Amino acid sequence: MSTLRFQAIKETLNRKAVKVDEPSRRSDIFGTNVFNETVMRQFLTKEAYNNVIEAMKTGKKIERSVADHISTGMKEWAISKGVTHYTHWFQPLTGATAEKHDSFFEPLGEGLAIEKFGGGQLVQQEPDASSFPSGGIRNTFEARGYTAWDPTSPAFIWGTTLCIPTVFVSYTGEALDNKTPLLRALQAVDHAATDVAKYFDKNVKKVNATLGWEQEYFLIDSALVASRPDITLTGRTLLGHSPAKGQQLDDHYFGSIPSRAIAFMMDLEIECMKLGIPVKTRHNEVAPNQFELAPIFEEANLAVDHNSLIMDVMKKVGERHNLSVLMHEKPFAGINGSGKHNNWSLATDTGVNLLSPGSTPMKNLQFLTFFVNTIKAVYDHEELLRAAIASASNDHRLGANEAPPAILSVFIGSQLTKVLDELEKVTDGKLSPQEKTDLKLNVVGKIPEILLDNTDRNRTSPFAFTGNKFEFRAVGSLANCANAMTVLNSIVAKQLKEFKVEVDKLIKNKKMKKDDAVFNVLREYIKKSKKIRFEGNNYSDEWEKEAEKRGLSNNRTTPKALKAQVSKSTVKLFEELEVMNKTEIEARHEIELEEYAMRIQIEGRVLGDIARNHVIPTAIKYQNILIRNVRGLKDIYGEDFARHSKEQLEIIESISAHIATINSKVNAMIEARKVANKMEDVEERAFAYCDDVKPYFDEIRYHCDKLEILVDDEVWPLTKYRELLFTR
Ligand code: ADP
Ligand code: MG
Repeated sequence: MSTLRFQAIKETLNRKAVKVDEPSRRSDIFGTNVFNETVMRQFLTKEAYNNVIEAMKTGKKIERSVADHISTGMKEWAISKGVTHYTHWFQPLTGATAEKHDSFFEPLGEGLAIEKFGGGQLVQQEPDASSFPSGGIRNTFEARGYTAWDPTSPAFIWGTTLCIPTVFVSYTGEALDNKTPLLRALQAVDHAATDVAKYFDKNVKKVNATLGWEQEYFLIDSALVASRPDITLTGRTLLGHSPAKGQQLDDHYFGSIPSRAIAFMMDLEIECMKLGIPVKTRHNEVAPNQFELAPIFEEANLAVDHNSLIMDVMKKVGERHNLSVLMHEKPFAGINGSGKHNNWSLATDTGVNLLSPGSTPMKNLQFLTFFVNTIKAVYDHEELLRAAIASASNDHRLGANEAPPAILSVFIGSQLTKVLDELEKVTDGKLSPQEKTDLKLNVVGKIPEILLDNTDRNRTSPFAFTGNKFEFRAVGSLANCANAMTVLNSIVAKQLKEFKVEVDKLIKNKKMKKDDAVFNVLREYIKKSKKIRFEGNNYSDEWEKEAEKRGLSNNRTTPKALKAQVSKSTVKLFEELEVMNKTEIEARHEIELEEYAMRIQIEGRVLGDIARNHVIPTAIKYQNILIRNVRGLKDIYGEDFARHSKEQLEIIESISAHIATINSKVNAMIEARKVANKMEDVEERAFAYCDDVKPYFDEIRYHCDKLEILVDDEVWPLTKYRELLFTR
């Protein structure tokens, strides 16, 4: 009997939901582990408090002397909550979060000691960062990198550690993390959007990008996961025959949440509350054992931090419940994968959502301005936006008929399509008073009404307008949303800057009124960006053909998609906005290609190992049983044995054939890997892994899965799909 598999199943069946104590009001514990404004008032001097608030709002630098006050206040607060250590918490280009804990404790000599946390330790640190990916930046410049405090994201306590969100940059200032370019992009979009928003309201001083992410994930018992080396090492199953029942009956989606899962969610949500993460929604997703979690949206930098943090917290809370949280985009073939919808908008400091239609024609013209500019930005940079969501794991999901394709398009709904069609007809040049009144009454003025009854949401679209925000749905569940947010906010920033220049030109040179100028520029943008708009079924073959005709990119694999990261227009975009310089752009490209190649390499190794060391020996064992059986039949029936052993002989042959194919394909895959590994050029290597190594996976898997349904269930060593997906 295959011990590990059956032990794991037995263990899982014996589990009970962990009891979780809910506070009677979640609001009572919200933010209790966050160094927020209320706590700051309590623990900081007035001067220190004002400095932090100003740094948060305007990005003003904090003086060293003030930093000492802040760090002392932070330390006292942390100690009052049982904290012993502090860490700079950052997001290196591994996609995960990083931390190195130091204790407050410091000896004074003569057997005495104190708890110390100075301003210097708060503001800047030099972690030994040589093992984080840098794409060659640190080699060419200076070996060291440092972390620096980001006051816009509040410090928080996890366990007994005070965590200080920081950026991570090289000694020469190049970004080595996900946060630095994001902050720069957010600043760019703030400036550009504020300038444009001022056309409509002079009082606007700041615009924040907002983000509400929705995180999908699977919960699988940790014993079951430990029995599967592929999930343990790669985050997904590399083989496994599909179960008789999967998600055909749609009986999981929005169904009642299984008891162990709900206990996990309650526990997680309580932790989130303490950390100030405003989680709001939880439900079952489409696939068995798949779930979703969503917070209320926040300012984008904070939302990205909260998503990175929650991914880590989910794993830790999962441990308490003996549940592994699978964040991979496609843990199970043939079953829905996971994504991370990024709901995005722009909000002014005067409290206006710029993508929300208003109650007056003027407010709606503002809405249309930001709406059309976003569509135009996506059209101009669709390939870069596609690159921002590219990864080895997301390749399984995009275009797999459950998630948007690798083609980017924008869905706006039939009602707004009509509005844009009307605006396309606006007169070239100055508008007559009649036309203006007409537009205001019948087109622009009608928007809020029509949106209310516009319910046709297209779930197949990668980038959909959903009433008062855009929803970027193609982001992977495993991804750090910083990348997608950096690109989206950058392209919109660039677009808004251009818009401002064009409108000002018409006002100045053509003596147009502001409204006329806005209408004129929008008209041209609507025409120019029409090709990116698609209202139909994004999963269909027709759309692929149509998109090709329209000249939209369709980069199905990561190495191909990533090319746009280093294109001329991308370099121009990021340099102009000062989001990234050429060195940083190229470093990122290299890191992502490298990571892609390594992920496929690891999967190839694991698959080869499982096929050779688990599947083939098991198949041989079972084949020997059959052979013994046939021999026995021969003993009894003599030459007549063939009549009685026909089926057995067929299975014996079939097993031999599958074994032979698996073995030869594994050999060929190893050879292909060797060739790829020798390639010096990282892009060439990534393409070799993609085009020459990866195709073997499906072939090897096919034969392994065939063996799974041929071989005696008792001896099969790998926990099966039905057990992974339906044992709770
Ligand atoms: P669903 O997409 O499941 O129908 P909702 O439309 O209610 O759900 O919202 C999904 C997510 O969008 C939530 O995280 C929500 O906070 C977020 N969201 C709502 N408004 C905005 C906004 N203005 N900016 C960014 N995110 C938003
Ligand atoms: Mg959604």
